[in-house]
Amino acid sequence: MTNFTTRFAPSPTGLLHLGHAFSALTAFNAASDAGGKFLLRIEDIDQTRCKPEFEAAIYEDLEWLGVNWETPIRRQSEHLDDYGAALEALREKGVVYRCFKTRKKIADEIARAPHLSPDGPEGPQYIGKMLAAYEERSLLADGAAFAWRLSMSASRSYLGAAFDQLSFNEEGSGPKGETGLITATPEIFGDPVIARKDSGTSYHLASVLDDAEQGVTHIIRGGDLFPATHLHRLLQALLDLPAPIYRHHPLITDESGRRFAKRDKSATLNSMRKSGVTREDIFMRVFRPHQ
Ligand code: GLU
Repeated sequence: MTNFTTRFAPSPTGLLHLGHAFSALTAFNAASDAGGKFLLRIEDIDQTRCKPEFEAAIYEDLEWLGVNWETPIRRQSEHLDDYGAALEALREKGVVYRCFKTRKKIADEIARAPHLSPDGPEGPQYIGKMLAAYEERSLLADGAAFAWRLSMSASRSYLGAAFDQLSFNEEGSGPKGETGLITATPEIFGDPVIARKDSGTSYHLASVLDDAEQGVTHIIRGGDLFPATHLHRLLQALLDLPAPIYRHHPLITDESGRRFAKRDKSATLNSMRKSGVTREDIFMRVFRPHQ
């Protein structure tokens, strides 16, 4: 009996397209080949962009593709307390700080000193600063909104030499062909937002926690998320979570070489199905050899 466990973790912010079909089928086939488990997780922490009709369409499209998953399905919106507890654990370790700045203010600061903020996976690498307790108290008393940022310098102090020894095992490949044992360099994120003002968590925190909670041994997902893995390894180390194996896959593209996006209505599985495309056509399309 293998413990191989993988997952497909879509966000219900639009209809699934061919790129999702490729990703879901790749993970599903890997689980079947290994005699392991395939999980489905709904990443719906962004309550303003997630819609119940998109979640319903995910189930319908995946069933149509012949993908089946373990139950119960984990829906992130039902686990906000777990993410809050993890944030609290990071606070106790002294590695996060409140950031009261608005996006506009941050953008202005970066524009004034762009050399301090080279580009990272989520835009310019911004490093804020922990305010003095009295400053925080007064902002909090005024009801000022804030996000939580993960401090790279505090994380480095907390982990010591282990910070520079973080690595991950890549069985697939990153966008530049990175494969094998990869040194993790989470500092490419600057001090990332780890809990947003609106949701109280972030994709990174929720996803890392859920993968551990659900016993995911193999993370199979698109290469666009390869850079996020650097940060995920740091979160795993800070939260004493196991390190899964990663298998990033290439993103499939349309005839003109463009990635599929949720906004391309014609490439959704839903519209293709309605126009008579069969499941076999989809398999042929996503697994054709020249992807
Ligand atoms: N929810 C993410 C997405 O839809 C996927 C996250 C992951 O696989 O780690 O792009």
